[in-house]
Amino acid sequence: MEAAQVRSKRFSILGAARSGLAVAALLRRHGAAVFVSDALPAGRLAAARQELEENGIPYEFGGNTRRVLEADIVVVSPGVPSDIPVIREAVGQGRTVVSELEVASWFCAAPMVAVTGTNGKTTTTSLLGRIAEDARREAIVAGNIGTAFSQSVEGITARGLAILEVSSFQLDHIASFRPAVAIILNITPDHLDRYGHSFEKYIAAKCRVFEFQQKGDTLIYNADDDVTRVAVERRKERAMSALPFSLRGLSPGDDGAYVRDGLLCVRLHGKTGEIVPIGSISIRGEHNVYNAMAASLAATVLGISTPSLRATLKNFKGVEHRLEVVREVDGITYINDSKATNVDSVWYALRSFQQPIVVMLGGRDKGNDYSRLNDLVRRHVKAIVAIGESAAKVKDAFAGLVPVRTATTMDEAVRTASSLAARGDVVLLSPACASFDWFENYEHRGRVFKELVMGLAGDR
Ligand code: ADP
Repeated sequence: MEAAQVRSKRFSILGAARSGLAVAALLRRHGAAVFVSDALPAGRLAAARQELEENGIPYEFGGNTRRVLEADIVVVSPGVPSDIPVIREAVGQGRTVVSELEVASWFCAAPMVAVTGTNGKTTTTSLLGRIAEDARREAIVAGNIGTAFSQSVEGITARGLAILEVSSFQLDHIASFRPAVAIILNITPDHLDRYGHSFEKYIAAKCRVFEFQQKGDTLIYNADDDVTRVAVERRKERAMSALPFSLRGLSPGDDGAYVRDGLLCVRLHGKTGEIVPIGSISIRGEHNVYNAMAASLAATVLGISTPSLRATLKNFKGVEHRLEVVREVDGITYINDSKATNVDSVWYALRSFQQPIVVMLGGRDKGNDYSRLNDLVRRHVKAIVAIGESAAKVKDAFAGLVPVRTATTMDEAVRTASSLAARGDVVLLSPACASFDWFENYEHRGRVFKELVMGLAGDR
């Protein structure tokens, strides 16, 4: 839809959190009739109420009534499950149901870069934001990260770039969203509870990132991840150009990103650029080489110069709570990887260190199969500290392989881990689980861990 057309339309917005409020205000500014509905009780939405009242937007809290259906278009916030009755009914009535991402894109003057995947979205999106900033390119970084797209979309001109972290939930309800550059980093099982436990449906949601791409647009994808590669190849009869990145190498002559003799290289239109030795990429671990390959390919497609890109890759320090170095105490390095909320991220974390690791694992388990980690645990892990609700499951999974100790608070976990570690070791918080058992969210878990580490005396 064109931005100018919203004036004559009625919108119902489901969800009064950050992105719901932002899209309501955006539509309202452009003259649409807007109604907001949230199932949470009013007591938990005091700030939302104030904002809606200030903007003169009608709303209901504590449930979704039929008033939601008195609209031409229903907008769903990313946190709202697609299978709630009111959405099913709206779909059944043939109403248009779209995501906040879709609506914001109608107002975007700049080319969009959309980053999706199971893991690495925030790291890669932030890295691209820094690449644009260092290259003095006008850009906004939005979506799942930082500000909602609807909130910042009007701040960007046609000369700039909109760099977006995009989750599969936002892709579930797009109708025209067309990024100039789309990136799929990887696809591994996660959030399957939101997809009727169907991995196929989750894969299909991720692939929607390139569904509306046209000639001249670019899809960048991880060719080493079989799920992603097969999914892209299956849908290859499209006009956009699909560029792979791979550590295993590309077919001779193919455009894409790869590593040769320790150098990250990008080949585009048959011309090869040597970007940077992978040893000098400042964010560590093999997974970050993948993120760097994806970002370098995107940056090159977008016309960012190699010297500028090289400088950013050498200097970018990464994002908080992702393999973040907290401190060294008594020769032990403490790493906060609280954002590792699934087994796959832990798999990469364990491969990121040469030193013996004492790893803190556990939390709210999403049905994890820990056996994938067995080989790495045998090779790299000295001991495990099991934490959170799933401590017993973690213990059962690994007790035969390495010593496992259980802690009942984060404080105890940090003290136990440091007593198990020796000079030269790493203590790693990489839980493979959500944090809601002990904490508000993964940021809270990471902050508590860091505070405890900062408080360690260190006198051995
Ligand atoms: P997302 O935004 O997709 O959740 P993040 O960048 O926040 O991704 O990283 C989440 C976790 O996954 C962190 O523990 C991080 O170290 C790890 N990670 C980052 N990039 C990748 C990748 N390409 N493959 C696997 N794990 C990754």
